[in-house]
Amino acid sequence: MSGPSASSSSLEAKPLRPAASAAKAREPLNVLIVGVGGQGVIMVSKALAWLAQSKGYEVKQSEVHGMAKRGGTVFSHVRFGPQVWSPTIPKGEADILVALEWAEGLRWLPYLKPGSGIFICDTKRIVPPFACLNRQPGARLRYSRETPAEVKAHVAEGYAIDATQMAAELGNERAANVVLIGALSTALDFPAEDWEKALSSFVPKKTIQVNLDAFRLGRSWIADARRGATAAEQAPLAPMPERSDAPYSVRLEITPQWCKSCDICVKLCPERCLRLNAERVAELAQPEKCTGCRLCELLCPDFAIRVHLDRPVVDATAAQGARL
Ligand code: SF4
Ligand code: SF4
Repeated sequence: MSGPSASSSSLEAKPLRPAASAAKAREPLNVLIVGVGGQGVIMVSKALAWLAQSKGYEVKQSEVHGMAKRGGTVFSHVRFGPQVWSPTIPKGEADILVALEWAEGLRWLPYLKPGSGIFICDTKRIVPPFACLNRQPGARLRYSRETPAEVKAHVAEGYAIDATQMAAELGNERAANVVLIGALSTALDFPAEDWEKALSSFVPKKTIQVNLDAFRLGRSWIADARRGATAAEQAPLAPMPERSDAPYSVRLEITPQWCKSCDICVKLCPERCLRLNAERVAELAQPEKCTGCRLCELLCPDFAIRVHLDRPVVDATAAQGARL
């Protein structure tokens, strides 16, 4: 793959401080992990909690993932230190905020410690269903349009990483959360080999290698950012995909193993041309009606749908919105 600078940019390319030093002091270290259902927020949280506990810290972890299957918000608080009294991180007290989705990251910024908090965010954009209610051609999606440059003003230290694209180039975009674990690991004192041991026990056996690669990629990206080797310019996010009436032919690629039968694509397809089949996997029932609007691709929380157009209205990367 091309170097990290091609797919990502740092909000501020300066060394991460050893945040775990706070945990060695009396107060706990607070890590907030946020994203949407299907992205692996809980796995990040569990791996961190497990590792901190294995190092003898008292660990408290709390999570909300009730809407996980439907692409809703998922967040997890992890606090560890010599003594931890409460499982939840108060507003303004997170030492590190790790976001697996761009708008979720922005939404949780008030929890970051002003003046010292570290913000690590995937630029992946998952547009929620309510942002797509206006189905008119050319309608703008109701979704955050802030750029990394604008976010920079609100954080002491921040990294906007195209983790999803980086993981995709490794062969499995579902490992994007592990790219972010790699980035997170550089802000903590735990040895890389201990992280790798933790990861190997939390991911499916057949995906261990790609996840280890993703972890190392996240670490090396941060190392490049620290050296100023990544693109530090504050390029805007790719344009949001909008509907268009331009002619094209459409092909849907549905990965059955990734479909969780959540029904979102079926319910939100403007043309009502999708359905769940007998195995409760999404399928294109009326291809002649499909306009290639890409809402199903944008809304699927499990990356199970790809829409291919012979004359793309928007480049494929815009659907991910991740290239900075
Ligand atoms: S393909 Fe449709 S039904 Fe399957 S997980 Fe994605 S949004 Fe849900
Ligand atoms: S791309 Fe086709 S199947 Fe997907 S939401 Fe649009 S019209 Fe429906």
